[in-house]
Amino acid sequence: MSLNAGETWTYQKHKLHGLSLSGIRTAISVPDLSFSFDVAQGYPFLLNLKKFFISHGHLDHAAGVPYIISQKAMNSQEPALFYMPKSLVEPLDQIMKIWEKIEGHQYNYKFVGVSADEVIKLNEQHYIKVFPTTHRIESFGYTLFETHKKLKAPLQGLSQEEIVKARQRGEEVNEVHHIPLISFTGDTQIEFLHSRPWIAESKILLMESTYLDCQKSIDDARKWGHTHLDEIIPYLDEIQSEKIVLIHISSRYSDREAKKVIADRIPLKHQHRVEIFPGR
Ligand SMILES: [Zn+2]
Repeated sequence: MSLNAGETWTYQKHKLHGLSLSGIRTAISVPDLSFSFDVAQGYPFLLNLKKFFISHGHLDHAAGVPYIISQKAMNSQEPALFYMPKSLVEPLDQIMKIWEKIEGHQYNYKFVGVSADEVIKLNEQHYIKVFPTTHRIESFGYTLFETHKKLKAPLQGLSQEEIVKARQRGEEVNEVHHIPLISFTGDTQIEFLHSRPWIAESKILLMESTYLDCQKSIDDARKWGHTHLDEIIPYLDEIQSEKIVLIHISSRYSDREAKKVIADRIPLKHQHRVEIFPGR
């Protein structure tokens, strides 16, 4: 596979496609819902998506914004929507204005500043919810939620006839369940994990783990606003996610070395849950 094409990771019905390598590039898309978490340098697999959720303004996560805007203009696509920390809106807007000057062309785009706990609707059954993270600049993580209508608990076990009658009486027979499907951390220290209760309940947790072993200390990781695998391991019992997918692993570890560290260091009972995102 050519560099920058990205790799696909699947679990049950969930499909992710992207790349993540510490300091170099991070963009992980959910093609079925036409959005991406971060945009790296604006790779081809991102160009037809509709929405982009930017965790923070570091270049390895956000440099692709102007390129995606220009490609969409060139292909006469609808202008893309970029969600990002509020402090990033104005500087990125200035960058676009400078680029408009360079090219003598005016671009259509929309930058939306987000706050923690904000909800962004994707479609009738899906939305994104914003959670705070801890990095060296303003940063957020994002969770994809799915809603399911279910018969209210007290009505379960009743006959179809009785349920119809209840509905005819004007009773609300359904209740909506909100299921956190995929959380994406961007770059963060371990503190994000307790910032909101739904994060550790997400079915799939894409979390950064920049350093994996004693080549770097926890202090080294924290100094740069990152997480060390040593900090994740003690929380594995607490994290309820069916899959914990490590992203943003340092390039000092080859794929083989990273996999070996996971095999050696993750307790046996958690081995089936912890994976490395395949695209780096
Ligand atoms: Zn960063």
